[in-house]
Amino acid sequence: MILVKRAGDLQKEIAKQKQQGNRIGFVPTMGALHEGHISLIAQSRKESGFTACSIFINPTQFNDPEDFEKYPVTIEKDTYALERSGCDLLFLPSVNEIYPGGLSTDKTYDLGYLETILEGKYRPGHFQGVCRVVDRLLQICQPHHLYIGQKDYQQCKVIEKLVTLLHLDLSVRICPTLREKDGLAMSSRNMRLGKEERQKAVTIFKTLNYVKEMLPKNDLQEIMNKAGNMLEKEGFRVDYVAIADATTLIPADHWDKKQKLVVLIAAFLGEVRLIDNMPLN
Ligand code: AMP
Repeated sequence: MILVKRAGDLQKEIAKQKQQGNRIGFVPTMGALHEGHISLIAQSRKESGFTACSIFINPTQFNDPEDFEKYPVTIEKDTYALERSGCDLLFLPSVNEIYPGGLSTDKTYDLGYLETILEGKYRPGHFQGVCRVVDRLLQICQPHHLYIGQKDYQQCKVIEKLVTLLHLDLSVRICPTLREKDGLAMSSRNMRLGKEERQKAVTIFKTLNYVKEMLPKNDLQEIMNKAGNMLEKEGFRVDYVAIADATTLIPADHWDKKQKLVVLIAAFLGEVRLIDNMPLN
């Protein structure tokens, strides 16, 4: 695996690979890699002749400074896992390499209502930061395929919107959520859970399943209330339990039995904020 720290070096390597006729698959991450990340690498390897992964903990997408400071860093382990996965290149840039003009900017991305609902509402500025880093990484890497996880459902919608806004010639490949044996969605933040919290964390998955089961039987508001109560009873501090249109993410208040829906949850267990989702039908 090639290790690259400079944007210019990445550009050179990608140009060389393209000249050799390789399609480029790109997997952006913030590190602390788990099997969910590795599944994106595996998908890219199936569809692309050359797979590049980036590890960059993007300061501009953290609205909570403590969350940024406590974000796990396991670079050595990550490098080893990527080597084993068959990833071709690891891009490990510094903050200066990604933001040569500094962290503050006047530029904004017009994400419309996506920025004010769900994660957008609870993490102001988060998606602008995501767009900044993805825009910059895509400019440098210029891949044919971009691999992202459905675990971050709203982020997938934001990135699709970004690709449209920037008129990029790129296919966005959304990959399924990998889960632990008990159903907890794999996440770098799971490492921060204490033993007891880790056991309770599975309640999110149970709640998603409960919502799915109840969908044909109850009205949406009642289901969401009961789901919120299930989480609170286990000690979660709930930001939202929301049922929304699976394509637009606009909140749904009733169901005509045809509309495709998704349930999304964000909740704190102690200091750790977890998110998860499940398509309902
Ligand atoms: P992160 O390092 O958390 O920014 O995630 C990097 C990429 O991996 C994003 O596209 C995530 O959606 C994706 N990802 C995170 N967790 C999972 C998971 N459990 N299964 C599949 N993909 C995931």
